[in-house]
Amino acid sequence: RLGSPRVDRKLNSPKSNKVRDNQGLSTSIHKDQLYLIIIGHVDAGKSTLMGHLLYKLGHVQQRTIQKYEHESRKLGKQSFLYAWVLDETAEERNRGITMDVGHLKFETRTKDVTLLDAPGHKDFIPNMITGASQADATMLVVDATKGEFETGFDSGGQTREHALLIRSLGITQLGVAVNKMDTVNWSEERFEEIKTKLGLFLKQAGYKESDVTFVPCSGLSGENLATKANEALLTSWYNGPCLMDVIDSFKPPERAISKPLRLCISDVFKSSGSGFSIVGRIETGQLRVGDKVLVQPQGEVAQIKSEYFFKFITLKKILTTLCSSGIEIDELPQPIGLAGDFISVSLSGYDAQTIYSGCVLCDISLPIPVTSVLEARVVVFNVDFPIVRGHQIVLHYQSSSESAVVSRLLAELNKSTGEVIKKNPRMIKKNTHALIKINLSRPICIEVYSDIRQLGRVMLRSGGTTIAAGLVTKVNFNK
Ligand code: GDP
Repeated sequence: RLGSPRVDRKLNSPKSNKVRDNQGLSTSIHKDQLYLIIIGHVDAGKSTLMGHLLYKLGHVQQRTIQKYEHESRKLGKQSFLYAWVLDETAEERNRGITMDVGHLKFETRTKDVTLLDAPGHKDFIPNMITGASQADATMLVVDATKGEFETGFDSGGQTREHALLIRSLGITQLGVAVNKMDTVNWSEERFEEIKTKLGLFLKQAGYKESDVTFVPCSGLSGENLATKANEALLTSWYNGPCLMDVIDSFKPPERAISKPLRLCISDVFKSSGSGFSIVGRIETGQLRVGDKVLVQPQGEVAQIKSEYFFKFITLKKILTTLCSSGIEIDELPQPIGLAGDFISVSLSGYDAQTIYSGCVLCDISLPIPVTSVLEARVVVFNVDFPIVRGHQIVLHYQSSSESAVVSRLLAELNKSTGEVIKKNPRMIKKNTHALIKINLSRPICIEVYSDIRQLGRVMLRSGGTTIAAGLVTKVNFNK
């Protein structure tokens, strides 16, 4: 409830330090924030793995697990027990409480990790894009079971497509959980076989060997997840990191505090009286109570109201809180929000009807570009038909999408060097890199990737499949 600013600290780090910024305001410094996306073929064990990890870390109450245990036994589906921990989010998603990609939080030694759960089914790719556009690092889950790894990896499986998609969105840090090792008797030979086969593919896809770590584990038995392995069959040949160590070793994104303000709105809530609140992540810059900001693409000015400025601890938690009257928030309002924070804030001097998910609050003097034409360097996936001029697409960017058309094929590029191989090609075939021009049906807020990484990633979909992903190289065509 917005009127009584208190927050549930259960999932929040109590270990934050207070510092004074240069204007004397007290600011909380938390552990480094890391957004992690979980990818992999359907049934690789993503939900089980993460559900079990959260349980081991104490984020799932014994009572909840007992309830699931009871229900899953009744249905004869005990093996789904831990997956239900995450599926609870899916249920809430259906009720419209949470966002498309469920958010869950946990801590490692040095990080506050927000988990972006990506369902593995083909239909869920658009949700995964939303998650991927926010991610700092990726955990790819593969099934070690004989024949299953091969199914997920070969043509038609999602292992390759997900890994390519993530890489083409500029995410370079990758953990590979070689899951279900219990089904292959913890075989070192099988682990090495998968590591070699997948490693080669990942290298070709542009991942650096030093940025990829393979971990043998079992989501079902919990082996090698939160603590180092115990299983003798595994420890006889493995003494590397557990899953948590790998997550902890991911480098946090740079908090671009000194860049101009960009707050991407992901939700709008009506609050008491005539007020309304927006929810979103500060990608760059900082925001203070009383600040005047520009709302783009509308190009209108609004002011940050003082009463309702919350730093987001757990997006899911707060969204649940906002939507129900039973839970209370016990965090005090914050005077300042910094790049990397998810916040809820109330605006004044602005009409709530005209603001929507996809709008961006920004610096008045250095606003985010608004454009209906852009150029992007894209990787074309394993598509059935080549991309030609006039191709109708849906452009996914940040957490939004817009219908668009490929208006020009500017060049085909060399996969590794990025050099132009052919200018103005007639078509762009599968598995190639290209520079293209896109015209949108209406103006959107978007950045050039080299200026602001998170806001310069795009995905192209057509006929229900993802055909390409890439980075924005040019937005301003008048200069
Ligand atoms: P997702 O589609 O990737 O989220 O996969 P799920 O987590 O739903 O798991 C799919 C199936 O694999 C379920 O029956 C799980 O119980 C099972 N499973 C998951 N992890 C393991 C594991 O480590 N070992 C074994 N034997 N089965 C697992």
